[in-house]
Amino acid sequence: MPQGISDRFRAVMRPSAAALEPYDPAFSQVRVNLSANENTYGMPAEVRAKVDEALRGVATNRYPQPLSPDLRAELAAWHGVDPSQVIVGNGGDELIFNLLLAFGGSGHILVNCTPTFSVYRLYAELVETEVVDVDRDPVTYEADADALVRAAADASLVIVTSPNNPTGNLFSVEDTARLCEACPGVVLLDEAYMEFAPEGSSAEPLLAKYDNLVILHTLSKAYCLAGARIGYLLGCPDVMAAMAAVRQPYSVNVFSQAAALVAVRERKTFDPTIEKIVAERSRLSQGLQELSGRGVTVWPSAANFLLVRVPDAHRVRERLRDEYSILVRDFSSAPGLTDCLRVTVGKLEENDAFLDALSCLLEEV
Ligand SMILES: *Cc1c(COP(=O)(O)O)cnc(C)c1O
Repeated sequence: MPQGISDRFRAVMRPSAAALEPYDPAFSQVRVNLSANENTYGMPAEVRAKVDEALRGVATNRYPQPLSPDLRAELAAWHGVDPSQVIVGNGGDELIFNLLLAFGGSGHILVNCTPTFSVYRLYAELVETEVVDVDRDPVTYEADADALVRAAADASLVIVTSPNNPTGNLFSVEDTARLCEACPGVVLLDEAYMEFAPEGSSAEPLLAKYDNLVILHTLSKAYCLAGARIGYLLGCPDVMAAMAAVRQPYSVNVFSQAAALVAVRERKTFDPTIEKIVAERSRLSQGLQELSGRGVTVWPSAANFLLVRVPDAHRVRERLRDEYSILVRDFSSAPGLTDCLRVTVGKLEENDAFLDALSCLLEEV
């Protein structure tokens, strides 16, 4: 745990910040890390060689180009939009923060579809935004589209994650359209994991129709660049201009811009790995279903992770780490996710290590 904030300084902090504690991702050095939804295959060697080559030519004495123009043009071509409809950020997280900075604040409402990625509420509260949670079905975690549409009528920002983290559910394109029509503000579809979902799941085709739709992508998951911190939004030029207005001009550094440009140009090279992860997802899910007699429940997922309920999940997660050197993410004390763990789909041998260890641990109890 990082050091806490002293009372002396907490007393002079902005109240919404003083309510927080330093973030602790609870990472530890382990043999098998299936805790953060990274691509555990790593970058294909030929892409890595091109990244290294590109980095060699990067000058560090000059500031980066604020709007990452080369990368922005490449992303725009990929998604079939104009560069003015793209903005690049220091990870998707920065873009989420900037959306709250631009469209949140006191007197503004964020509609949040829970349980979901905790960052939305965190950033909303930091900038004093009122958060209205619209709960997912407690059994299937499907979003309640009718309730979202009703709540959206008063919102400056609605965020729906598709596929949802940590439950794996998709949100339909039809319901996204309904949200865009109902909401006077911005509707963010967070598609951080869309590369792992079936064709046709993305809300991207709606960008041509709705000026208040914004879609978030990241290179952290499928494209092996979690360490470089590159995310981007697609949306109408007006909303992208609002984002450009609030951002820190030099937040995306020269190395990350260069590495991301190569990865995006070489994006097809990642497809075989993405297909392998999708195939491993079925196999891992099947293996977990075979443990249902020992109290294991696994949900369907369109992402590169699975939500799993196991008896005494908190303890199981600790034992996986301490006795098997396998790290998964603990959601067991999150509202609506009692006894749930989230496991990233890794390589065959990593998934097998997790299945074998879990099976051993559950045998004993
Ligand atoms: C990982 C993730 C992101 C973005 O991650 P960055 O590494 O900051 O790009 C955004 N949304 C969700 C739901 C995620 O899980």
